[in-house]
Amino acid sequence: MTKFNELNLNPKVLKAIEEAGYETPTPIQEGAIPAALEGRDVLGIAQTGTGKTASFTLPMITLLARGRARARMPRSLVLCPTRELAAQVAENFDTYAKHLKLTKALLIGGVSFKEQDALIDRGVDVLIATPGRLLDHFERGKLLLTGVQIMVVDEADRMLDMGFIPDIERIFSLTPFTRQTLFFSATMAPEIERITDTFLSGPTRVEVARQATASETIEQGVVMFKGGRRDREASQKRKTLRALIDAEGDKCTNAIIFCNRKTDVDICAKSLKKYGYDAAAIHGDLDQSQRTKTLDGFRDGTLRLLVASDVAARGLDVPSVSHVINFDVPGHPEDYVHRIGRTGRAGREGKAITICSGRDEKALAAIENLIQKEIPRLDNPVKVDEPKPDATKPDAPKPERKARPAESKKSESRKEREPKGRGRGRRDDSGRTVVGMGDHLPSFIALSFDERRTG
Ligand code: AMP
Repeated sequence: MTKFNELNLNPKVLKAIEEAGYETPTPIQEGAIPAALEGRDVLGIAQTGTGKTASFTLPMITLLARGRARARMPRSLVLCPTRELAAQVAENFDTYAKHLKLTKALLIGGVSFKEQDALIDRGVDVLIATPGRLLDHFERGKLLLTGVQIMVVDEADRMLDMGFIPDIERIFSLTPFTRQTLFFSATMAPEIERITDTFLSGPTRVEVARQATASETIEQGVVMFKGGRRDREASQKRKTLRALIDAEGDKCTNAIIFCNRKTDVDICAKSLKKYGYDAAAIHGDLDQSQRTKTLDGFRDGTLRLLVASDVAARGLDVPSVSHVINFDVPGHPEDYVHRIGRTGRAGREGKAITICSGRDEKALAAIENLIQKEIPRLDNPVKVDEPKPDATKPDAPKPERKARPAESKKSESRKEREPKGRGRGRRDDSGRTVVGMGDHLPSFIALSFDERRTG
């Protein structure tokens, strides 16, 4: 097994790695670092949780340790799809470059232009940015990209999802073609392949096992949720969520709860708070200071439940998340892998529970197909209300009265035999169950088809 000190990294970087407590490089680091240090382009196919951030920051810091930045001309550029991921990459630089004098700037929405402009004016070694914000600065004439020697594109598949590919192409064309490119994506969609074919030259391709297959430390389960009455389905689902959290008890030290829609992120967080849970929402529509506050709270353990959308939680690095709960099954199977990858990181144990309603069963099948395994079915801890019978109908069953102890057993076994839904409990005069019609049913209708044919 390769050791960090065999990778030709700068001794000051090695010192920082040791202080971070890392003992051995992860497979993506082992594959990408030597090629990056040789100045080669790298195509890394890896997801978050594999140590991919360090696989580009460590060689970058080593390469940038020599030389100095010039005003308005950053020496390297890291593009990230979201502000959270960009902020996290910046934190990684701070950690690994702490014994070196490297400067960096962070260009993300919600952070003032003025402060970042001042940094860029002085000259930065590393510029970390989201594509839109970077182009805003460029268009305001505050930035030159002609000095970029190393360019990183992180989570390119997410860039594609978010419609950033034209921006990425433009940024590529603004940097010198002699630059070194380190390009990371969890999957290789045809559009991503086209970009790498165009902008990378003879890259070293490093592919690491898909996280879902690699991370056996994540215990997965799915609750098949039957909605009951339509108008109460949403609240029943939230009740199920609360019951699942309760059932985990103290084992659930903190959790990220994913919803597919921003509105549900808000509703879920509010509802949890109303029921006395320590929860807060994070999604793209919240302002930066609010998002930072919520994330900091979650990271330092003062907030227990973070309700999030996929984009907002992207790249979120909280090393010890005990649980991931999917309030909805994600539409893209890859998102499932990303979501559950928030727990069970760096060899720790984690649990991922998904709530699947009837309409999400197809999406669940796609996930099971991708991860090549069946997710164990869990019991729903909540008994969902059956539709209430309409009391105005003459044949509607009477509301169940509480059974006396002596008859409870009998009524239970009767319940088992009776069909559910419309017409339940009705029998014709020969005692046969009749579904879907009134009481005055000619008894021949209750015969099975074969019985009718044979007379
Ligand atoms: P990433 O895939 O970059 O999001 O990293 C996932 C997590 O692994 C982060 O919490 C890193 O701090 C941690 N990590 C990165 N490299 C190593 C390593 N060589 N050994 C142990 N943990 C690591």
